[in-house]
Amino acid sequence: MTGAQTVAILQGMHPLTLLPFLVVGVLLAWVLYYAVKDHFAPKYGPGQCRQCGYDLTGNVSGRCPECGKRFRAGTRLPWEL
Ligand SMILES: [Zn+2]
Repeated sequence: MTGAQTVAILQGMHPLTLLPFLVVGVLLAWVLYYAVKDHFAPKYGPGQCRQCGYDLTGNVSGRCPECGKRFRAGTRLPWEL
């Protein structure tokens, strides 16, 4: 099937013919979003080690004393000020 044939078929369709595909696509995207959103969310809050959750308040060494993960000492996010 060529591109011109596909366009001709789509032009002859009623606009609502594609509605079920749109609904299924939106539902599939919604399900996928909720399936993976927790996977990519940070496990620990601000001021905590990204790897183990250790409280890094006041730590200026640049390294987590619990697990050894490096971080940028003194870096604060706007809502931590
Ligand atoms: Zn750590």
